[in-house]
Formats: sequence, structure tokens, C-alpha cells
Amino acid sequence: MQELSYYEILEVSQNADKATIKKAYRKMAKKYHPDKNPGDEKAEHNFKLCNEAYQCLSDDKQKSMYDRYGKEGLQGMGGGRSNAGFDDLGSMFEEMFSGFGGGSRRQKPADMEKYPLDMNIEMNISFNEAIFGIEKEIEFRYKDACKSCKGTGAKGGKLSTCSQCKGQGQVYMKQGFMTFSQTCPVCQGSGESPGENCSDCRGSGYKEKKEKITIKIPKGIDDGNRLRVSGKGNIGKRGTRGDLYVTFNVQADKHFQRNGNDVYIIIPVFFTQAVVGDTISIPSLTGELELKLDIGTKDKQHFTFRGEGVDDVHGHGTGDLIAQIELTYPKSLNSEQKELISKLQESFGIESKPHEGVLDSAIDKMKGWFK
Ligand SMILES: [Zn+2]
Ligand SMILES: [Zn+2]
Repeated sequence: MQELSYYEILEVSQNADKATIKKAYRKMAKKYHPDKNPGDEKAEHNFKLCNEAYQCLSDDKQKSMYDRYGKEGLQGMGGGRSNAGFDDLGSMFEEMFSGFGGGSRRQKPADMEKYPLDMNIEMNISFNEAIFGIEKEIEFRYKDACKSCKGTGAKGGKLSTCSQCKGQGQVYMKQGFMTFSQTCPVCQGSGESPGENCSDCRGSGYKEKKEKITIKIPKGIDDGNRLRVSGKGNIGKRGTRGDLYVTFNVQADKHFQRNGNDVYIIIPVFFTQAVVGDTISIPSLTGELELKLDIGTKDKQHFTFRGEGVDDVHGHGTGDLIAQIELTYPKSLNSEQKELISKLQESFGIESKPHEGVLDSAIDKMKGWFK
């Protein structure tokens, strides 16, 4: 049995837009959800397939790999920022089967900084910079606690007791016999609030500063990866400095397409080269490689060059370079070429007219239709 494509699983066409795919997925997921089909193994299997299909087709990057290289192209993918599909999935199930779980509310610890000490910035780097690594100078802004108010945002650093919660950090609500407590929304649980705002920082508690640093980007970094630069984040009221996280946006390359540590490239091959099994030279990440085609190489055939891909960012080996053949044919032939081709064809013993036996049976078949 032939495996269904992701499009077939969700029963959408290959050029369906995101909304259509999402809608189709909802429909199928509802149909096959285990809660609705208890003990039905086939439904469970279909449900898994729908999830797999949607995870791929809802992610632009995965979808384009899938469209070009099929399921094979998705292997080793994941990681990076491609978990958008998962998030989406989660929220969708909450909607569909509401009542489960519910969001757990995060509570802020009482004695908090006015802003997080760790900070995140994004950085664009080229395809090659990501693969081979590079040192780069970056300039960024960070928060430094205001000296006048010691990072409190209150004039003279003087905080007064929060009027909302009377310094308790919690507010209480009564409902029937029960009393619920909640972190005070005014002071965020600290029990203190500025009586008057610090005029130096307008109550924010910090001043923005600029800094230039050089960071070493390791080879093998991929789109969406994060690098921690220790001690270069925001500075808090006690002088503690957080970390800076740099998230990389890797630009796409014109020819190479990266998939984890593997790299794909499409190589156009003229049909005569494929027929004779020519040896051609193809670009690699570091230069050129010699590719010996098979006699009768097929369209979309893959040739793998082990270890010619990207060095793993954590030092776990090196990926492969995969050349995918794209056969090209002449759009028109001159008389000389026509003659050469028919000579070639003759030498293989192939006649230009359809084979008699084939023709006869086709005619018989057609007669059958019009009986
Ligand atoms: Zn201040
Ligand atoms: Zn309060």
C-alpha cells in the first residue's frame, strides 16, 4: 500500500493556504480524536497521522522541505523555531476540548526587580557565517538600575507601604464561605509602592545604556539557535547583572538549503549527461565536488556526500551534502539534432511508430468502450 501524502491525509490540495490546512486539520483531528473513538486503534493511528501532517504543513520551513524533498527532507529537522506547530496544536486542543488543564498562572516572587535581568536580542547572520562561525561586534541597549532611586522608581528611593494591599502583597476576595488570595496587582506582591515617582527615570527604575561587545559565533549555528553571553544582560538594583541571549536569524542561501546539519542542493543535469552517466563538478560548502552520475540517472535522484555538510554546533560530527538531480531536456531541436536522436533511437532498435502490438490492443480497448 502506498503511503498517503500529508496533503492526502488532511484531504487538502497541495496549494491550499494556511487557513484551509488548519480548518482541514481541525476537522480530521475531531473525527479521529481518541476521546471520541475509545479503543479504536485505527482511529488512533489516523489521529497521529493528522498531527504529523499538520505539524509539517503548518510550518513554512518544514512544508517547503516536504514539498521539495518529501518526508526524507524532514529527517533531522525540528529544533530551531520550528515548534510553532506544537504551540498551535496545544492552543487548538484547549479550544476544542476546553475544560482540561487550564493555564497555570505564574506568580511573581515578592521581592522582584522592576525588570528581568536576562535579556534577549536577535541578530541576522549569513548562511556561511552560520556554517563556518565568525566573530562579530554587536551593539545593544541594556537597562541599568537608576542611581537616584536605587532601581525602585520611587523618589529618593523611598517606598511607602502599598495602599492597595496595606503592605501584605496579597489581596483577598470573598466568595461565599471561601476567601481567595491573589498577588496585589498594584505592587506585584512586594507590599511597597512608590509614593512619588523618581524624576530621573520617570518611575521606571532604570536608565538605558549602550554597549558594544564582540561575540564568537560557533560554527554550525542554525536559524533560531540562541547563544548565551554571560553577564551582559540588564543590571538590577543590587548591581547584579543578568545574561544576554542572542537569537540568530540565518539568511537563506540561493543554492544550498539546510536541514539540520545536512545540506541539500539541486543540480540541473542535461538528459544526455544522465543517459551516459557523466562526471560533473558541483558546488560544495567549501569548494567543488566531483559527482559521478549513474548511467540512466533519474530525475530527483539523490547523491549523498558523507561529511560534506555542516559541522555540528555541539561537536557531534558533520552532516552530509545531498545533491538532488533535476533532469533538463531541450525545448526544441534543430534538424541535425533530430537526425542524431533518431539515429540513436534506431541503434537501440526502437521504432518511431508505436509498437504494433501496443497499438492493436489499444484499439481493441477503445472499441470495447463504444460497444
Ligand atoms: Zn530613578
Ligand atoms: Zn500591594
